[in-house]
Amino acid sequence: MPEDPAEELLALAEHLTEWLRYQRRLGWRGLPQEPPAAPPAASEAAAERGVTLEEIRQEMGRCRRCKLYAGAKNLVFGEGSPNARMMFIGEAPGAEEDLEGRPFVGPAGQILNNLLHKLGLDREEVYIANVVKSRPPGNRDPQPDEIEACLPYLLKQIKAIRPQVIVTLGKVATHALLGSKEPLTRLRGRWQRYDHILVMPTFHPSYLLRFPRERQKTWEDMQRVMEYLAEHEQD
Ligand code: URA
Repeated sequence: MPEDPAEELLALAEHLTEWLRYQRRLGWRGLPQEPPAAPPAASEAAAERGVTLEEIRQEMGRCRRCKLYAGAKNLVFGEGSPNARMMFIGEAPGAEEDLEGRPFVGPAGQILNNLLHKLGLDREEVYIANVVKSRPPGNRDPQPDEIEACLPYLLKQIKAIRPQVIVTLGKVATHALLGSKEPLTRLRGRWQRYDHILVMPTFHPSYLLRFPRERQKTWEDMQRVMEYLAEHEQD
């Protein structure tokens, strides 16, 4: 090795050059030109989640996207926690809901409230919405064009909340969300999926009002939902 520091440095540089040439012959293509990608910023993560519930409500405004606006008093957007782990989806507002502008506040709402109470849940910790946000006249079933006009807003609500489980109440909500035509009796009580979110179809509370004997089945469906949520508390 040379004694002179300048010569030593020169020798070192030659060694390094030789070593780099050797590495290149082995296939090395040099240092990356671009800095490694930074983790996504918080704003990007928010964008992933979609818009907020308030923004979706604002977008709907005084909705006239289907013929139901003509007979409806209030748009029933939905209510509950924006961070809910469980989301309930009904069909469309009835008379009381139309008057109050809130979902499930009439007789069917009483059944839903009782169910939540028995499960140890508050309305404020879940989210409750309907497929169709304006009341169909005489509580008839919503028609395909009404569902088509309103469904995009429900899907945006789901995207904003990203619940762990969705419970669809009755045939209309189940078929609209899953895009299925299978009878509810076959879908009920069996896990389904919408956009990677677990969906548990069950009976509509109005049906349970008319057929109280079927309440046990909905209770069992909800037990499965509660078990899943208990097992996935940290997710
Ligand atoms: N039935 C529904 O499907 N939704 C309501 O909000 C009330 C009754």
